[in-house]
Amino acid sequence: MQELHSFLSVASGFKAVFLDSYGVLKNYQGLITGVENTVTTLREQGVAIRILTNDASRSQEQQVAGFNKLGLQGLQTHEVITSGMMAKHFLQHKITGGKIGYMGTENSARYILQAGLEHVSIREIDMDKLHEISAFVFLDDEGFDWNTDINKTINLLRSTKIPVIVANSDKLYPVSKNDVAVATGGIAKLVENLLGRKFMHFGKPDTQMFTYAYNRLKRLMPVTKPDILMVGDNLHTDILGGNKFGVKTCLVLSGNTSEHSVEQQIMSTGIIPDYVCRSIIT
Ligand SMILES: [Mg+2]
Repeated sequence: MQELHSFLSVASGFKAVFLDSYGVLKNYQGLITGVENTVTTLREQGVAIRILTNDASRSQEQQVAGFNKLGLQGLQTHEVITSGMMAKHFLQHKITGGKIGYMGTENSARYILQAGLEHVSIREIDMDKLHEISAFVFLDDEGFDWNTDINKTINLLRSTKIPVIVANSDKLYPVSKNDVAVATGGIAKLVENLLGRKFMHFGKPDTQMFTYAYNRLKRLMPVTKPDILMVGDNLHTDILGGNKFGVKTCLVLSGNTSEHSVEQQIMSTGIIPDYVCRSIIT
């Protein structure tokens, strides 16, 4: 049997904890009961908190407002780091002309693509003027037609050699106790497989968010990698990402990974967390 640790006693040994959002702080029902107390306890102990989320559809301000609404008060915008921010930085610095095509909602496009370049939804792209499109971004799993627009994306990317960015690499996300839905990264994966191409992925397990959070934190407090604990419910994103970045990792069983399958999942993936806890509540 997998040994289960008490999260609060594990976390108190670190100067900072990086927390995944979905499955750790909240789930399909809202804020996970008791999360506010854990955040308060960590703050009282002087443990810095950063939320690292593979969410490309909302800004830091919108994230904080969302947590407020769910009942978790007092988060600061700089405490939330999203894969969307990383994709946005990349686009701002690397794509300097043309129009950016995207698949997703208008809200996510407004946030990520506000760098000054014109952006155009897959639905609106004129297939006879593909030379105008300088990059394509997989932003969100909503805001387009799953039949027409996924086929159009495949045809667009077959005929161009532009950079393709996946702003959220998550393949699935939970929508109820038993069910999942296809996320942006899942659609991107389908297109990658069909075209035999590899796109540029932002978000865990890639380490850009870890590097960003770590570098920013170092400006505020003396901290090294052994002082940081990455906490998440997903072996493939949170734990693999934390392991690759070189910080200690803690798998929680309040989301994607269940208690009865955890041991087998760790064995079969070879992704080994330093700690396993039931949740961050106790
Ligand atoms: Mg999660």
